Parts: sequence; structure tokens; C-alpha cells
Amino acid sequence: MDPAESDFETQGPTGEDFGDVVLEVSDLCVQFKTEHGWSTVVDHVNLIVRRGETLGLVGESGSGKTVTSLAIMGLLSGPRVKVSGSVKLAGRELIGLSNAEMNALRGKTIGMIFQEPRRALNPAFTVGDQIAEVVRRHGDGLSRKQAWAKAVEMLELVGIPDAPQRAAEYPHQFSGGMCQRVMLAMAVACEPVVLIADEPTTALDVTVQAQVLDLLAELQDRMGLGILFITHDLGVVAETCDTVAVLYGGQMMESAVSEDMYFDPRHPYTEGLLASTPDAQVRADRLFAIAGTVPPAWDWPDGCRFHPRCGYAKAGVCDGVAIPLAGEGDHLVRCARADELRLEGIAR
Ligand code: SF4
Repeated sequence: MDPAESDFETQGPTGEDFGDVVLEVSDLCVQFKTEHGWSTVVDHVNLIVRRGETLGLVGESGSGKTVTSLAIMGLLSGPRVKVSGSVKLAGRELIGLSNAEMNALRGKTIGMIFQEPRRALNPAFTVGDQIAEVVRRHGDGLSRKQAWAKAVEMLELVGIPDAPQRAAEYPHQFSGGMCQRVMLAMAVACEPVVLIADEPTTALDVTVQAQVLDLLAELQDRMGLGILFITHDLGVVAETCDTVAVLYGGQMMESAVSEDMYFDPRHPYTEGLLASTPDAQVRADRLFAIAGTVPPAWDWPDGCRFHPRCGYAKAGVCDGVAIPLAGEGDHLVRCARADELRLEGIAR
């Protein structure tokens, strides 16, 4: 179904029209209490996901991607965590909602799939039961039989062969790729407006990875899903995302439409990620590794957080005051030398 022709509602719960923006994250901050005091793991992150489009959230492990997604899903709570800023899902503010209110939205308006689908599925229940349970929780007054029929329909939709029979099987009877399809069936069973996909293909081999990406694109076309696609792999982003945001040290380093990011990166960290992507045709003829590792959140350096690892760092320019995210139009970058550097992207 063309998203433009679907019966997608653009009215939020208070009657405001949220247009095609299905997820809007503004100034999101997450702090964890550690033995070093309060550490800011996600620092004023802004993201926009539109209906029928995919935003890639990219960065190495420890950059803050997964914590951002958990904060959006309302899965961070307790005395050792503080979440502030704004997360609007189809026009509705999520920050400050109770657990019960978030439970009513998770699985219905916003879905999530993870890197390890087998861990997310309960080994003690059949896959059909697990999908039917989600459908019954959010579907008004559906009988068990109707929910089971819906579970079978969803398994067919995600390409599980012999779905009526396989619905009665357990997760251990499915391959990794098939488990990811089951997770997808469960995540979209109630036709959410937003899907968060956290490294959904990282644990899969290349062929199965391509199949899962194709399936995601197919479901997106059909349902008009807005997808937040979290990955460390810019090669995967190139195939799937309309826009990209690069995170490092909990901060956005660069954001742009995908083409601009690939052909004309403006942040040295993005250039490094591109150059270290094996299947990207980068102008440099050798595979590159960014020196060093992401420091822990209690040890971010002053000035540009990337400066200890950046080959373009300049004393007195990059290591003093904090660098703002700046730029024109859709292409924003957090680099004090962005205007003078000529960085290498993918060959056109
Ligand atoms: S501000 Fe300096 S250290 Fe940071 S990315 Fe730009 S050039 Fe590198």
C-alpha cells in the first residue's frame, strides 16, 4: 500500500496535526549514576523520523545509540537514571508517561526489533502464541481464535513458509533469520507507526541480512512505517536509510540526507566510519580503522569529544570549548574545522 493512500491518522491525542513526522526527539538527555557521579550518556540528541522513511542512527559501540532507543521506548527507569527532553510519538509526548501508559503504546504504536531475536523470544511458548498474545493485548476484544488467525497471517506476511503449521513451533525450531522474521511479525502485528530496529541484521549472515532488509522495506511500503534503524554499519545504512544521524560520545556529530552524508561527509568521524566500511566504495583504496576507542561517558574529553582520535585535531581549536552542532539546511555538523576540511566520501 502506498503510505500516502493508507488510512494513517495524522491527529494526535489532543487533536493537533502532526503531519508526516511520526517520531520527534528533541534535546534528549540520558544520565546514569555511576561510581564517578552522574554521567551524561546521551547529550541533547535531536531526531526526526517521517512516515514511510528510515532514519539511520550510526556510531560505534558506546556512542549512545542503544541508550537513545531505550529512552525513546521508555525502557529506562529507576533511581540511577535521569531522562529529560522531549520524545513525541505521533504527536504524543512520551517523557513523563507512566509505565502502564508506555506499556499500552509499546507493541501498538511503536514496535522494536533487536540484534538477537532468539533472546527476545520466549523459548517456552510457540511463536504463534507469542504473536497472538501481543495481538490480544492491544486488539480490542479479539478472541483467542481470532488472535491465532492474525498470528498466522502475520507469519505469512513476513514470509514464513507453511505458516499455519509453523505457528505451533517453538523458537529453537527456527533459524536466526527466521527468528528475526518472527520478531518482525510480532513488532508490526498491531501496525505501529514507528519501528525501532536495533542492529537487526548484525547477527545474520550476508544473504539472510539482505533478505531481512528487503522484508523491512516491503513492510515499510505496505504500512507507511517510520523506521529508526540503529547500526554501526554505514554500508547497511546506504541501502536502507533516507536520512542519517552519526553519534559519538552521546552527541550528534553529523546529520544529513543519506546521499549527502555518503558523497560529502563533513565530520572526520563520519569519514572514518565510511573508510572502515568494507563494502563501501570509498575513494581511499585501503580499509581504514579509526585509532583508539570510545572513552567511557565519565571521561569525555573537553572540547570536541572526538579530538583524541581525530587526525585533523588542532591544538587550541579542537580541545578547548565545546563545539556546537551547526550548518545550513539539513546538513548539520559538529566540527570546528568543518569549513576548511575536504573529507573523502564514497566515490560517485
Ligand atoms: S573539531 Fe577538531 S578534533 Fe573534532 S572532529 Fe573537527 S577537526 Fe577533529
